[in-house]
Amino acid sequence: MPLRSDWSDSQCPLARGLEVLGDPWTLLVLREVFFGHTRFEDLRTHTGIAESVLSKRLSTLTGHGLLARTPYRDASGRTRHEYRLTDTGEGTLPVLNAMILFAEEHLQAPSATAHMQIIHSPCGHATESADRCDACGEGLTPATTAWVSSARSGRPVPLATAAVR
Ligand SMILES: [Zn+2]
Repeated sequence: MPLRSDWSDSQCPLARGLEVLGDPWTLLVLREVFFGHTRFEDLRTHTGIAESVLSKRLSTLTGHGLLARTPYRDASGRTRHEYRLTDTGEGTLPVLNAMILFAEEHLQAPSATAHMQIIHSPCGHATESADRCDACGEGLTPATTAWVSSARSGRPVPLATAAVR
């Protein structure tokens, strides 16, 4: 018996969205892809996700066209795969931004370094809107957005953009 219903044909767009993005690991995988990690091992290390779960989530994300799987050769000449954002995948940025902003506003942080900021790179201002710069009003895209994680480098990291258009 499935854990829950399949919502892919739901009349409600929120439910259809949850069918793809509703698993917590999925958003953490996307976080790492936006941070520039594209390889299976890097994604596993940075999320702490079990290999089998990561494989499943990556296949959901590629199956729905949010990530594109492309081959590369590692140092020993073995063919491996990396996962890059597509145009559709870029469209998840406001979802992740909204999650960050919700947590910063409403949930207690466990330490002083457990914070993130969303920076509109062209003007350099932090924004508290998920899809628009508070300071200049421009829409946010991965190409114009950087995340600052005080738990990581504490510096703005320009986000990865779609490799496939
Ligand atoms: Zn701005």
